[in-house]
Amino acid sequence: MQTSTRNDLLLKRSLAAVWHPCTQMKHHESVPLVPIARGEGCWLYDFDGRRYLDVISSWWVNLFGHCNPRINSALRAQLECLEHVLLAGFSHEPVVELSERLARATGGALGHCFYASDGASAVEIALKMSFHCWRNCGRPGKTRFLSLAGSYHGETLGALAVTDVPLFKDTYAPLLMASEQVPSPDYRLAEKGETAPDYARRCAGALEEALEQRHGEIAALIVEPLVQGACGMAMYDAEYLRQARMLCDRYEVHLIADEIMTGFGRTGTFFAHEQAGIRPDFLCLSKGITGGYLPLSVVLTRPSIYQAFYDEETARGFLHSHSYTGNPLACRAALATLAIFEQDRVIEANRVRSARLTAATESIARHPRVRHFRNQGMIWAFDVDTDDSQFARRFVTSALERELLLRPIGNTVYFMPPYVIGDPEIALLAARTGELLDTLVGQ
Ligand SMILES: *Cc1c(COP(=O)(O)O)cnc(C)c1O
Repeated sequence: MQTSTRNDLLLKRSLAAVWHPCTQMKHHESVPLVPIARGEGCWLYDFDGRRYLDVISSWWVNLFGHCNPRINSALRAQLECLEHVLLAGFSHEPVVELSERLARATGGALGHCFYASDGASAVEIALKMSFHCWRNCGRPGKTRFLSLAGSYHGETLGALAVTDVPLFKDTYAPLLMASEQVPSPDYRLAEKGETAPDYARRCAGALEEALEQRHGEIAALIVEPLVQGACGMAMYDAEYLRQARMLCDRYEVHLIADEIMTGFGRTGTFFAHEQAGIRPDFLCLSKGITGGYLPLSVVLTRPSIYQAFYDEETARGFLHSHSYTGNPLACRAALATLAIFEQDRVIEANRVRSARLTAATESIARHPRVRHFRNQGMIWAFDVDTDDSQFARRFVTSALERELLLRPIGNTVYFMPPYVIGDPEIALLAARTGELLDTLVGQ
């Protein structure tokens, strides 16, 4: 069969058989789906050999490139040994080793890893655990949750309840538990002359007010540390996390760190919360945990919280489960991912890579239509000054024509490449993004 026919055929079958995520399917009448036949490193290829640079790490999950030889080989070995076994009443090596290593990555402050498959499920678990912990401690009135304005924690009903993105949330509002949002420390919102730490402290003041008034009914504050991804890569100063930690301690409220996107080196440190010198009470991880290979998520907690469930009485235990909890293949991919972090000294290497990408994109930062060019570790974002309501859609199409896989959020363009992006790809990304801006919004 001719290759371009294979592309076309796949798209036709996909539209007939698959309901694609986060998509108004009718839009595909005018914007074609992109067929992918294979991946290698930072590149994705269709059946004709057309290629796309995966600058968004396939929705923020890929860390070390597609079809990474080291992860592939770890998975092959695991596949010959054990594909899956239930984790209730049973255990296996990959899940134990991964749990030990993740606990070590928090300096031993957090542990007793509780597994699920997706980020949203990890958020559900953290919310339920927080509420249940307080209930077990004789505080059943703590039933409510605080989150930041613009927060994103996933799309299942519980996670959506603490999410604050109207496009995803408003339709389902009648189904959701009530939650409350406090101002986001997003430093774009600072007053003129106000520094990012100053603005963070001002927002912490608003948090303190909310906690002071309602701490008796609030179980937890959930935050995306340092970068709020889905609302458009809002970045904020670590001072907010220090203040939030202090206030949560003072008012006896749990602090949940949703590091589903920010974990595994994305913000420059292994976990984003490290930059504030704090530890949360619950840590939610997913996305990069398997290097972008397999669905896996996990919640780590403090020993004291684990102890609040440890009892003769069954119902005081955490009776939550998912069929694929702690899947051995997924855990093995995660272990292979952690091994690469150690072998390649990835956090240090990324500092150099990050500086190179920042230097290469200097002219984008200075582009007359670009506002708030910002960077945190391996995330770059900027806002484009345009009145075009179709900007994001036009940008996606024009980017694909230039071999770039980019998906702006509204008028915010961001780069979140795999940690194996090399100098030639960085140069290509910078040059073609510049071209795109000139073409779409002018000089
Ligand atoms: C992606 C994301 C989630 C949801 O994870 P899924 O695996 O898509 O359910 C939750 N929180 C944050 C911060 C995320 O970026």
